[in-house]
Amino acid sequence: MSSSRVLVLNSGSSSVKYQLLDMRDSGRLAVGLVERIGERSSRLKHTPLATGGPTRESNGPIADHDAALKAVAAELAQDGLGLDSPELAAIGHRVVHGGKHFTEPTVVDDTVLAEIERLIPVAPLHNPANLTGIRTARALRPDLPQVAVFDTAFHTTMPESAARYAIDVETADAHRIRRYGFHGTSHAYVSRATAKLLGRAPEEVNVIVLHLGNGASASAVRGGVCVDTSMGLTPLEGLVMGTRSGDTDPAVIFHLARVGGMSIDEIDTLLNKKSGLVGLCGDNDMREIRRRIDEGDARAKLAFDIYIHRLKKYIGAYYAVLGRVDAVAFTAGVGENAAEVRAAAVAGLETLGLAVDGGLNAVRGDEPRLISPADARVAVAVVPTDEELEIATQTYALVRKTN
Ligand code: ADP
Repeated sequence: MSSSRVLVLNSGSSSVKYQLLDMRDSGRLAVGLVERIGERSSRLKHTPLATGGPTRESNGPIADHDAALKAVAAELAQDGLGLDSPELAAIGHRVVHGGKHFTEPTVVDDTVLAEIERLIPVAPLHNPANLTGIRTARALRPDLPQVAVFDTAFHTTMPESAARYAIDVETADAHRIRRYGFHGTSHAYVSRATAKLLGRAPEEVNVIVLHLGNGASASAVRGGVCVDTSMGLTPLEGLVMGTRSGDTDPAVIFHLARVGGMSIDEIDTLLNKKSGLVGLCGDNDMREIRRRIDEGDARAKLAFDIYIHRLKKYIGAYYAVLGRVDAVAFTAGVGENAAEVRAAAVAGLETLGLAVDGGLNAVRGDEPRLISPADARVAVAVVPTDEELEIATQTYALVRKTN
């Protein structure tokens, strides 16, 4: 097949991130972002990596996703990479919620669109925007395969013991309440890349993946298969995040409603947008928090300590779930960059075979690397994630298979 390009689209409610890749060498031809769609001050930022040209930025109103995608198409056409090119094999879309049934990337047809739509009640913030992105791209190139790659798919292998909450089964099933997990594309990519770093097949290794970005999640991956993850019905469960609380006693919600007089929507906003690091200390950027700690700021220190305490609990829990752990992999903005977080998360876990080498941990870089001492029983690694490459890889593999 001569077509080897894949356009990856990540459509948010007011933004579209995109990358055009050539799957012959996984090289990026162009990357960009449209922000503040629907506002007067929309912004498009486009970097044509293929031509080596400078990043182009344009400001001005972009009314909706349709206009955004047309603007992206125009930018790509300017570099000779237009969406009408026969080189384009498919468009891969990030879809946040695929429920229980989408276990793999899927070529979009009307039935698939209807099912993604049916999942809106469990993903009200994400699926509508993802759907808009797919519909718009489909209208632009109706002849081209549009592939949905689901954030939840990698976690559909979780056993019922990990995927179910211990609540009344009939009630749970009636409302499709279960633990779906998110960041699956990243957990899949990083667990495989970690096996590669160890020079072993994914089937042979057990990995704890710690995806620590603004959103954060942990997963336990046994022989390439996810057996547990920290996010649940929604991305709110689990680790302390930039603005999300992660685990709390669910009774906090009853208490805030009954005693605090807050509405459900106010509590939703509190736990999703005003909690986590930002709720604890006012900042959600780990760099800023570290700077404040260096200046002796007690609130920043407490926020950091709570973040690390939760992280450590999940490492311990997933160690127990897996029984044998070959590697712990840190990824995403915090995991890839914050050496202090990595050191603190495994501090004191020497009896589990976990340690970091101070010198290796301090080295910065873009490549997967080991940061544990040479004789460590468990490898500790920094493995940069690449969700767009993973979406493109899965998309391309699927269209090659079906063509
Ligand atoms: P998301 O994709 O969830 O928005 P990222 O994976 O890009 O998030 O991570 C963003 C976070 O990474 C920032 O909020 C910041 O806390 C952290 N981060 C980025 N660079 C650094 C750095 N050099 N040192 C420490 N933390 C960093």
